[in-house]
Amino acid sequence: MCHALLQDPRFFALLLEIDRDQAAQTQAAGCACEGRLHCANYPRKPRGCLPEFRSSFEQRFSFCCASCRKRTTATSVRFLGRRVYLALMVVLSSSRHAGSNSSAALLAGLAIPLRTLQRWRTWWADAFVRTPLWRGACGAFMPPVDLGHLPASLLERFIGADAAARLSACLRFLTPLTARTRSLQAAT
Ligand SMILES: [Zn+2]
Repeated sequence: MCHALLQDPRFFALLLEIDRDQAAQTQAAGCACEGRLHCANYPRKPRGCLPEFRSSFEQRFSFCCASCRKRTTATSVRFLGRRVYLALMVVLSSSRHAGSNSSAALLAGLAIPLRTLQRWRTWWADAFVRTPLWRGACGAFMPPVDLGHLPASLLERFIGADAAARLSACLRFLTPLTARTRSLQAAT
């Protein structure tokens, strides 16, 4: 179901729109020193993305303060920290449901190394559950999310009209993790 989204241009357009929105809010809020924020986007070379959608993922929206030069990077539904893979790949490919029929072929086409997939699974099982985001939010899920089946067990808790709405809601939930934090510093 969700894997069809990997080929859906409307879904990528939606993610880009959400990120533009978040970037606009970040810029409007200004720097902590009250200086004005100027655009200073990071170029990205995304992996885990079909070539035709790459243009939606070539920039991470970020700003530089005109007064103190400090950087402020907007939260993102497209990128999970500094990982070179798209956030949605980190969610979809790490889920154990990923191994079925056409989706398996699609994921194979995107050539995510097994080692990377294993690292993501370890991250979900270990680092993710210790993040302030999850510690603060986990109590709100009733019945509790099955930690043995993250992230699939988390994804299935988001409701929406269709798969795009559910996955984008899940990615929105994860956006606090997309600002720079220690647990995400390790790339890929
Ligand atoms: Zn500043």
